[in-house]
Amino acid sequence: MTEMNELETIWQEMLSTLEIEVNSLGFDVWIKPLRPIRIEEDVLIVASPTPASKAEVIAKYLPLFKEALRSIDGAPKEISFISEDEANDPSAVVKGVTAVGTADENVQPDTDKRKYEPSTINPKYNFENFVVGGCNRMAYAAAKAVSENPGQVYNPLFIYGGVGLGKTHLMQAIGNAVKMSETNLKVLYVSSETFLNEFVESIRNAKGVNNQAFRDKYRGVDLLMIDDVQFISKKPSTQEEIFHTFEALQTAGKQMVFASDRLPQDIPDLDSRVRSRFASSLVVDVQAPDLETRIAILQRKAQDAKVNISVNMLEYIAERVSSNIREMEGVLTKVIFMSKLYERRVDLAICQEALNDYRVQECDEITADEIIDCTCRYFNVAKSDVIGKKKNKEIVEPRQIAMYIINELVPLPLEKIGECFGREHTTVIHARDKISGLIASDSKVKTAVNDIKAIVLRK
Ligand code: ADP
Ligand code: MG
Repeated sequence: MTEMNELETIWQEMLSTLEIEVNSLGFDVWIKPLRPIRIEEDVLIVASPTPASKAEVIAKYLPLFKEALRSIDGAPKEISFISEDEANDPSAVVKGVTAVGTADENVQPDTDKRKYEPSTINPKYNFENFVVGGCNRMAYAAAKAVSENPGQVYNPLFIYGGVGLGKTHLMQAIGNAVKMSETNLKVLYVSSETFLNEFVESIRNAKGVNNQAFRDKYRGVDLLMIDDVQFISKKPSTQEEIFHTFEALQTAGKQMVFASDRLPQDIPDLDSRVRSRFASSLVVDVQAPDLETRIAILQRKAQDAKVNISVNMLEYIAERVSSNIREMEGVLTKVIFMSKLYERRVDLAICQEALNDYRVQECDEITADEIIDCTCRYFNVAKSDVIGKKKNKEIVEPRQIAMYIINELVPLPLEKIGECFGREHTTVIHARDKISGLIASDSKVKTAVNDIKAIVLRK
């Protein structure tokens, strides 16, 4: 095992042990933000975000950490805490060891930079510029009804569907419509990440008193919208807070709207109370739009941008970008940009150039099988193993990486991707989430994913 892997494995085991011992709030507030730095002379060195939190962790949890270490095979005997400042200061000496850490913001969601992002409703998303087709008719109708009678119909509303298919657009359209009405209702739109960060921050600031300001903020609104709720998976105290917020708003007859990239029952590690509340909502989906709707969306966007593009050209683009409206919009933006740059009307050459940049043409032709083959060659493992039953890490990781890449590049439903490996769609979801997590934290996985993608896209 490499040094990095060993550190990570020990740390994960440590977390699983502590998660049982420590109450969930304490775990989220104090232990989650910690970062293992290295093992040196049988001492596990761990960084805490600030000197104050370091002191707190030592006071509260040091005995538990030591006990946990003893229970893990092959773990160092001692543990030593430093603050992130010390970890990032090459001159700081810890136990005779120069502690140089490379702080990765991505794995530290609770560090200062990311707290209190503004939660805004963007006026550019409204019902008028949302193109309705078979793929989103139900979601549109439900959102419209909610905006006209918040708290009265379809409460809560739960919108789910793949990336870039209009969930956020619809939520923001509800927010804009309610704000425009003369009702003076209080509207709050946040991503679940903002909710989580503000919650954790409020606990930390409250220092054991209570976090009334946070509660007042979230329980005092008439319309609360939380986007991308799949991210509260594995966040027990945030889930609990959402549950209580939910109950308070429900009792007061206030409207709630949630969006997620999957159904409530497919969000892993979700408190059963929260899951059942989500599931009892009106659950509506947004699907990938058909060609006709895609053309209509492009027409609408071109019109909004006050650019004249022939329907033929829009059709050409719509035929080649099928699974994600945001990407299709990206291609259109590029087309408009190039037309201005070259000072000529949008023509086939411009469309082709813009599409080439997005490599969507090639993506359309790549098959799941090719990705599996390529991944097997890359890791030098047998295809029969990767699509077979083996569970050792040497096979599981390539399998999960292949699932991840297929999901990203091939417009196949999760069920179908699962079938390629003789598995359920939930396994694909798990693989996707696992690998996207690893991409942020493990440079080897990140490199492998990028290399394999580069190989399959080049063909
Ligand atoms: P999601 O939240 O589902 O990932 P978004 O709501 O952010 O997706 O949508 C991505 C982009 O696609 C946005 O710019 C949005 O305006 C646009 N879009 C999605 N669906 C439609 C639609 N039906 N009509 C017009 N634009 C749409
Ligand atoms: Mg969104």
